[in-house]
Amino acid sequence: MRPLQYELVLRGRALVDGRFDAVEVGVTAGRISQIAPAGTGLDAVRIVDLAEDEVLLPGLVDTHVHVNEPGRTEWEGFESATRAAAAGGVTTIVDMPLNSIPPTVTVAALDEKRAVAEGRVYVDVGFWGGVVPGNLADLEPLHDAGVYGFKCFLLPSGVDEFPEVSVPEMHQAMAVLAGLDSFLIVHAEDAHIIEESVQPGARQYAPFLASRPRSAEDAAIAEVIRGAEQTGVRAHILHLSNGDSLGRLAAARVAGIDLSVETCPHYLTLTAEDIPDGDTSFKCCPPIREEGNRDELWQGLIDGTIDYIVSDHSPSTPEMKYAGDGDFAVAWGGISSLQLGLPLVWTEARGRGLPLEWVVSRMSERPADRVGLADKGRIRVGGAADFAVFAPDEVFTVEAGALAHRHPITPYQGRELSGVVRQTYLAGMPVKEGAPRGRLLRRGEEAHGHNKSTHDQNGARS
Ligand code: ZN
Repeated sequence: MRPLQYELVLRGRALVDGRFDAVEVGVTAGRISQIAPAGTGLDAVRIVDLAEDEVLLPGLVDTHVHVNEPGRTEWEGFESATRAAAAGGVTTIVDMPLNSIPPTVTVAALDEKRAVAEGRVYVDVGFWGGVVPGNLADLEPLHDAGVYGFKCFLLPSGVDEFPEVSVPEMHQAMAVLAGLDSFLIVHAEDAHIIEESVQPGARQYAPFLASRPRSAEDAAIAEVIRGAEQTGVRAHILHLSNGDSLGRLAAARVAGIDLSVETCPHYLTLTAEDIPDGDTSFKCCPPIREEGNRDELWQGLIDGTIDYIVSDHSPSTPEMKYAGDGDFAVAWGGISSLQLGLPLVWTEARGRGLPLEWVVSRMSERPADRVGLADKGRIRVGGAADFAVFAPDEVFTVEAGALAHRHPITPYQGRELSGVVRQTYLAGMPVKEGAPRGRLLRRGEEAHGHNKSTHDQNGARS
């Protein structure tokens, strides 16, 4: 009997079941079909041996990305965003409903977005829908069309075509989404507290920080918790920047409310004290806060109050990012870190004594599980053969011009980081420039491979 031959076998140390082991990973039709101990000698058309300093990670899953296409392609776009993702070891992104024109608040808008993305993405792409005033009737059709959930804002979003909802409107949407067993993700800052906190524009960071106080975030989070408790909806706090809310969030968990929380690399690696005057590449909302607050966020991750880490990749044009000539009140708020998330978080985490497997689970399986990307986020039989080949000890210096997203703007310029993504595999094939092979995902559909029987058929042939 001829032994089973895989299309690809990767051999080396891989993250499987939460730890690193020397294994052979066999891939067929875009899926992992076997994981065997090193030395088994799985046969394949193509065998890849990892280098001594490399490990095999599951492709990362970034559920908070603003691609901005169609409509604001001069800010980013599907090709450049997914090229940056692949370069950073991210094999699945979920695109935010706003900053594109039209925003993804109707099925027609989703169809338009999918049409422009088709055939142009280097990694797999799913989509969020949006909740805006007056689109309650669009939520079920969007859910049926395969969005992974819905985003709303509780204060102005920064773009006119995606208005915020009031707290009562959020509750109405929560009731509808609970009935669909969908998912509501919220930009939680309180509009009234922010209005009352306006500061004169300045090149110093402190007035901007004072204009986005912790209390605004905390008040809005309290409203999300209240709504989730009353409606039973699955809810999620986007980009938590504020350590003061961790107690409230932990208590909501204990009370059995179905709530999850994310934070972002910039809140975990940057501090307000170190932001140079006039350098608006550091501007994002909610803002980067003080060093002590950063330690609290790490503690929230360690104790499980914060579930996962995603980029909130939110580019704009250089004209907007530097608008106001260093005035933090005027410049666009958003940081682009799709390509740098893993080395940023890994470098900081290892300095705090946390292992690589801890980091990776919070950037792959946890977001995948919460959002419902069932075959993503971990190396396991039957899962998508999406991988990052990572050299955790190799050091590099961030160079804005070398990043793959559209505009060479980063607050991390010149930073020395540990960890280089040397290769990214999507559905069992290396991601190659000029050959975008990503799929557009719909909730509940398996992304790769035809069906589970592919492996059985191969087995029957052997
Ligand atoms: Zn965002």
